Amino acid sequence: RNSGQIGSLSTEGSSVSDSKNLRVKLVLLGDSGVGKSCIVLRFVRGQFDPTSKVTVGASFLSQTVALQDSTTVKFEIWDTAGQERYAALAPLYYRGAAVAVVVYDITSPESFSKAQYWIKELQKHGSPDIVLALVGNKADLHENRSVPSQDAIDYAEKNGMFFIETSAKTADNINQLFEEIAKRLPRPTFHFLT
Ligand code: GDP
Repeated sequence: RNSGQIGSLSTEGSSVSDSKNLRVKLVLLGDSGVGKSCIVLRFVRGQFDPTSKVTVGASFLSQTVALQDSTTVKFEIWDTAGQERYAALAPLYYRGAAVAVVVYDITSPESFSKAQYWIKELQKHGSPDIVLALVGNKADLHENRSVPSQDAIDYAEKNGMFFIETSAKTADNINQLFEEIAKRLPRPTFHFLT
C-alpha cells in the first residue's frame, strides 16, 4: 500500500490498459480546505499529515488497487492545487480523466454547493464515460455536520454517481472509495482478428 510514487509532468491523461491492468487518470475537485490532499496522502502513503503539501505544480501521485478478479487499476491522481485561482485551467486538469472525485466537507454547506458546481462542469465538459464519485470528507467531525447524508445520497442518485463519506484523519472509507471506483471503471474490450 505504501508504494506511492510521484509521477512526471504530463498533460495527457491517457488510459493505457491491457485486459488485466488498467492505468487511469483520476482528478480531484472541490473547494480548498475540504481535504483533497489529505485524502490522497492517506490513500497513497497511509498517513494523515495536514502540513505536507504534495500538490505543488502539475504532478501526480500514483497508487495501484488490486481487485479480487486479479485485475489491477493504477490511479494517476491529479490534485488540483491552485485550481481555485486558475479556474480557466480546470479543463486541462480533467481532460483525459477516466475518474473525477468531487470532494466536499460535511461541515460546510458552501463546499457542498461547490461540489455540485464541479459536477455540472464535468457533465458538460468531461469525458462522456467518466466515472464520478461524490465524497463527503471529514466524517469524523459528525458533531459539526451541516450537510445531511441524505441530501448527498439523493443528489448522487439523481446524477448517477457513486457517493461515500470518508475521513482522511481516521482513514474511514478511504480505501473503500478507491476500490469502489476501480470496480466501476469500464473495462477495455479487445477485438481479435481471426
Ligand atoms: P485541500 O485544500 O482540499 O487539499 O485540503 P487539505 O487536504 O489541505 O486539508 C485542509 C485541512 O482540513 C487540513 O487542515 C486538514 O488537517 C483538514 N482535514 C483534511 N481531512 C480531514 C478529515 O478527514 N478530518 C478532519 N477532522 N480534518 C481533515
